[in-house]
Amino acid sequence: MTFKNTKGPILFTGIKCTVLLLTIVACISNPVFGQSKKMAKLPPIASLTDGVWLKGDLHVHSRHSKESSNNPVAKIIAFSRSVAMDYICITDHDNHVDGDVAHNTWADPEFKSDSLLLLYGAEWTTTRGHGNVFSAKPYDHKRLYDVRDQRDTVIGRVKNKLGIHLSANHPSGKDHFGYSYDIIESIEVWNSAIWSRNANAIMIWDDMLSSGRKLTGRGGSDAHHGNPETPDKATANSGQAKANYVGTPTTWVFAVKRTTQAVVDALTNGRVSISANPYAPRVEFYADLDQDGKMDMMMGDNTRATGKPVKFRVQLTGNTLPDGNYTINVVKNGSKFGTYQVTGKTPVVEFTDTPATTGRSYYRVTVEGQATNYPQVPQSMALSGSMVALSNPICFNFDPNF
Ligand SMILES: [Zn+2]
Ligand SMILES: [Zn+2]
Repeated sequence: MTFKNTKGPILFTGIKCTVLLLTIVACISNPVFGQSKKMAKLPPIASLTDGVWLKGDLHVHSRHSKESSNNPVAKIIAFSRSVAMDYICITDHDNHVDGDVAHNTWADPEFKSDSLLLLYGAEWTTTRGHGNVFSAKPYDHKRLYDVRDQRDTVIGRVKNKLGIHLSANHPSGKDHFGYSYDIIESIEVWNSAIWSRNANAIMIWDDMLSSGRKLTGRGGSDAHHGNPETPDKATANSGQAKANYVGTPTTWVFAVKRTTQAVVDALTNGRVSISANPYAPRVEFYADLDQDGKMDMMMGDNTRATGKPVKFRVQLTGNTLPDGNYTINVVKNGSKFGTYQVTGKTPVVEFTDTPATTGRSYYRVTVEGQATNYPQVPQSMALSGSMVALSNPICFNFDPNF
């Protein structure tokens, strides 16, 4: 009830007074006062089968980033194709070109491919930290660059007008994302092959999810350096190409179509998992809400908890090692829920739990085990260690209008 902009004197009728009184009584008698706002109606869950799994890298620097070496756009695209990537986003530092990525990375004659989906984006490189932009089509990046030092409310409005997906980069490292997490859609929870550096990023992600921010977790290699063609072209950083390059890690999205827009939409919706490299197994995470044996939702999806038990299914697909043993860790609301050992060609784990009808719940999984060989980036396996894959959360009672 609002009396703003009401013209003339406000006349309380008897009925209005009763409604007001009842509302106050209802709010006070509600044990979760403050959360009494009714949650918006949730949209129906999208199909679990009409779509395609696409893999890519969401954080790569080309020669348009000043500190990169031996990494022209054509080399990144050719390499991505050689390891069967479906999409890629070249995210050069926007401050190196005064915000004008449109006339640098995107205008590079090598920025084209018939088979690889090329997202438009950049690394928003500011005094308050780094974020990546992902867009299906060109947008006016200069506008975002120009407001980088303004208040977050101003930045949020500009971002919404541009219709772009904004993502926090390496949130716990140097140049962490020093902006409000209310202006982003996703967070880089796995930056580079060096998995051990990401523990605090995962902690931040869990804090954000627990506070009702349904942010997608995604990966990004942050690769800057390619293999030199000849030894004389080598730089002090050339060795990095053997340890961290396109695909370390690899972000999988379940897209409705093979288009750049579908990739960005899947990323926003959280139908995403991350694997250590393009050949490592992919983790899929589903829930059967009515226990009829048919899965009803997958990671990234959100529904209202009914109070009935839900059956969850974790499955590994793709290149599982023939006699590999994998450990599946389930996290519920930021805390350890269970640990399961699996083996076999298509390992599956099922568990049951009853999400509370009041308050929010989320479940996500991580997979550990033997590293899968990535011959093109041979030193990356040692750096990612036993980390194989991680899923996005399955959510209950998250308010879409949060
Ligand atoms: Zn950065
Ligand atoms: Zn970067």
